[in-house]
Formats: sequence, structure tokens, C-alpha cells
Amino acid sequence: MRKEEKLLLENKINIIQELINQIYQEHFPNRRLPQVKVVFSNHLSDYNANIKHIPMFCKYEIKLNKNWLDSNELIIKGLLEYLIFKINKIKKKTFTQDLYDKFISNVHIAVEKNKIDPFLQELFEKNNKELFEEAIEQTNLVWGEVSKRTLGTYNYQNDTITISSILKNAPLHLIRFVVYHEMLHKKHKFYKAKTNTVHHSKDFRAEEKLFPNFINIDRELNDFLRYKRTVKTKKFNWKNLFNRF
Ligand SMILES: [Zn+2]
Repeated sequence: MRKEEKLLLENKINIIQELINQIYQEHFPNRRLPQVKVVFSNHLSDYNANIKHIPMFCKYEIKLNKNWLDSNELIIKGLLEYLIFKINKIKKKTFTQDLYDKFISNVHIAVEKNKIDPFLQELFEKNNKELFEEAIEQTNLVWGEVSKRTLGTYNYQNDTITISSILKNAPLHLIRFVVYHEMLHKKHKFYKAKTNTVHHSKDFRAEEKLFPNFINIDRELNDFLRYKRTVKTKKFNWKNLFNRF
């Protein structure tokens, strides 16, 4: 590591420790100031961060993706509040957390788009043309784990739509619908209500219904997943195994 880089890193780590002290003074004035270990890592995805709390030693370990190195201090403070409140199971809204939320919901503009599955891309483009008037900017598009519970996700930090690999051989319009649902997340973003974060707003649900033949989609998805389940059980059924020999 070059000398300037090292200085920058040390400087950033000091700032983070100072910010955490501030947060404690503002929100937990009666608690002892915590010890903090800060690590900037390449292993976390874009703008990701996580926290570990060791209450016995009043210690935090915070890992941040390197993108945070160039970020504005107030936004980093919002991120730290978010992490510290979350791990202490406290629900609080602050101005800096709002800044952080806004930043995260716009961070897609700065994120590199280098993971685009060509098959999913076609569905994305078709949706964009037919249902969004081309208003949705390119996201990353990848296949994820084989999950039945989560058919798709949209991650604001790395601007990535992930589709469950269980859908790989599903009817095309079903995959297209899940891609559409995730594109709606990028469009509608999220907002904080009093006690929770709302990802599926009324407007979101209304627009979701505009998908062709929406009325049957839920049932078709369920049918498909049920079919997958039967196929899987058959595979492991010893009788079938026996029949093959
Ligand atoms: Zn959703």
C-alpha cells in the first residue's frame, strides 16, 4: 500500500471512530464510549457494510466496502447510525439516516454494470420497452441460488436484480414477471414508515397489476413451484431409482 493511501485510510478510520463517539453522545449519553475496530474490505459488495457487537467488551467491529472511502461524512454517519441502531434493536429516525437512505436509493447511478446475464437482459429490455417507456436505467442482472421462497431481489447498493435459479426452466412470462417486479423496486424505491420500511407501496402494487395477464400470474407461479417440488421428490424416491436398473 502506498503511503498516501495508508494515510487516507487511517484518517478515514479516525473519522469513523469520532462519528461513533458523536452518535453515542447524542443517543446513548449514559453509556460508556465503545471501542471500535474498522476494516475497509474488498470482499463486501458495493456500498455494503456490516457490524458486530461484543457487548461484554463494549466493542464494535465494523466492516465497510471500499467505496465508502470517498463518501461524504454525513452519509457515513447515517450508515453508522443505521448499523448501531439495528444491532441495538432501537428504532430511531434521524436526519443523517434519511440522507443515508436517499444516498442508497440513488447509489445505482455510480455503480458499475458489469454483471448482465444476456437472457435476463432480453426480458429486462422487453419490460422496459413495453411497460416502462424505457425509463428504467440498466441494472446488473444475475441468476442467484435455487430458492423457492425468494424468487427475486433488487439490491440498491450494487444495483443488481437477482433471479432465483429455480426459475431457470420456468415459462418465459413467469421469469419476465419476476424481473418486472424487481424493476418496480428500482422505480419505486422505498420509504420509512413509523415502524418499518415500506418496499411494496400502494403505487407499487397498482403498477404491478399492469403486467399482462397479471391476474393468473400468482397461480401459475405456485403451480410451477409445486411442479418443481414433485419433480424433486421423484428424483429422490428410491422406487424410481430402482426402476432405472
Ligand atoms: Zn418485492
